[in-house]
Amino acid sequence: MSNKIKLGVLLAGGCAGCEMAIVDLSERLLDALEHLEVVFWAPTVADVKYKDLEAMPEGAIDVALVDGMVRLDEHEHMLKVLREKSKVLVAFGSCASEGCIPGMANLFKAEDLLKQGYVDTFSTDNPDGILPQPEWKEDGKYDLTLPRFLDKVSPISSVVEVDYFMGGCPPHPDFVWEAILAIVQGNLPPKGSWITCGK
Ligand code: SF4
Repeated sequence: MSNKIKLGVLLAGGCAGCEMAIVDLSERLLDALEHLEVVFWAPTVADVKYKDLEAMPEGAIDVALVDGMVRLDEHEHMLKVLREKSKVLVAFGSCASEGCIPGMANLFKAEDLLKQGYVDTFSTDNPDGILPQPEWKEDGKYDLTLPRFLDKVSPISSVVEVDYFMGGCPPHPDFVWEAILAIVQGNLPPKGSWITCGK
């Protein structure tokens, strides 16, 4: 059995730029992977699906990074599942930690945001004004084929307990590297702390 630290990464409602900060570690990533084993990274990178995470035993992930904020009920659900499976959970980047620029969506009503995105933009051809909507099964029961757009954007700490926070939009790769070193060396600050470069 591998002694490597098992790493999970979940993109919630962000742009995946934080994950690019991991890729931007470039050759340092190879050093990191000597100590880390990626066991979950969805939906962007690894071919490990949500259902694979749900099948993992509790505590199967040593450290989970979550980037992006909570915008959909799917994010709420996956965050809760990831929390259950992870010993340490990190809000990775400004969206996850504090809502960041997408938090400005809270200045508007959810229905107005959808209308802006799907009807009013000049490049949209949607004369009937059709918005994303759930499909109904033949028996009339609600079919969760589409996640529900929540009324408000929230940081992930509004849904699950967060052990560490990391700012930045995205975090600078040097921040990410310091955090990886702290994880690998078992040198993490007290729980609830912000992980910052040089500390
Ligand atoms: Fe994208 Fe910035 Fe949010 Fe990261 S913090 S997901 S880079 S918007």
